[in-house]
Amino acid sequence: MRSADTSIPIIYAHLTSEQIGRPAAQKHSQINWRVASGIVFYHLVALLGLVPGFFSWTGLTLALLGIYFFGGLGINLCYHRLLAHRSFTCPIWLEHCLAVIGVCCLQEAPARWVAIHRRHHHHADEAEDPHSPLVNFFWGHMGWLLVENDELRRLGVYERYSRDILQDPFYVRLERKKWLWVILLSWLIFFIGGCVAELALGGNAASAAQFGFSVLVWGVFVRTVLVWHITWSVNSVTHLWGYRNYQTDEGSRNNVLIGILSNGEGWHNNHHAAPRSARHGHRWWELDVTYLTIRALMLVGLARRVVLPSPHLAAAPANATMATRAFPEVPEAPGP
Ligand SMILES: [Zn+2]
Ligand SMILES: [Zn+2]
Repeated sequence: MRSADTSIPIIYAHLTSEQIGRPAAQKHSQINWRVASGIVFYHLVALLGLVPGFFSWTGLTLALLGIYFFGGLGINLCYHRLLAHRSFTCPIWLEHCLAVIGVCCLQEAPARWVAIHRRHHHHADEAEDPHSPLVNFFWGHMGWLLVENDELRRLGVYERYSRDILQDPFYVRLERKKWLWVILLSWLIFFIGGCVAELALGGNAASAAQFGFSVLVWGVFVRTVLVWHITWSVNSVTHLWGYRNYQTDEGSRNNVLIGILSNGEGWHNNHHAAPRSARHGHRWWELDVTYLTIRALMLVGLARRVVLPSPHLAAAPANATMATRAFPEVPEAPGP
């Protein structure tokens, strides 16, 4: 593995001023009230978790575990590595279960998430990138979600970037907003689960309701907000700050803090250098919990065709700029 090069001076020199900035379609766009109101609502309810009546250690524990369960399994492992990059294959029942877990993160249905992400790889840090932080940090982090993006609403985006995903009727149904029921069901499961647990431990109706609300606020709302900001940080922070193992032709970085918090997604420069690889941590100390999970699935026979970084990657000259526009074409759908 080549050594880190943290002294690369201007990595965006190949971009013109026209290329760095919002696409024209977004300059005149309007607030996306559906998304913006959802984001504000979740943040406000999550803040309730700081009120003593809505706090419980169980809720806090569920929120932290949920970062791995929902964010790690649903978004990293399923949406990103399995669906967007086809880094491995697994039984279809498992893929669908993981996709439903991903849906609970309120980051759109899989086909849309995949289309936006593949477009990011195709045009990383160019004008067509849906969320480049070169516009500004807030835009790359969450601003891009708050406005209507005509480019991303066009059917051509799905046709270009997630045609393979939509060959499965399951994902077509999810795309038609059927997933809202999944969200409401998850609220109920957390709230009722908390109430029943408190009653089973001898609590009365009032304490059961209070405990149920603490589990709901922390297990669903705080966890969702934390997973959002972790995912958004991969889009924003890891295209601005960190070190680079590879001189890729965009601004991706490996960021230690985001690498740990995101269960391995923060080794983003490695990921842009080898997009199809299931393994994002390339050095021994770049902890990649999501890849370790894929390894565990492989050991029990539930993950196959696991793609690893090409040996040519490590052999490439350290000062060579790597072309990483990985998704001009949609990768083949995996076999059964
Ligand atoms: Zn990126
Ligand atoms: Zn990716």
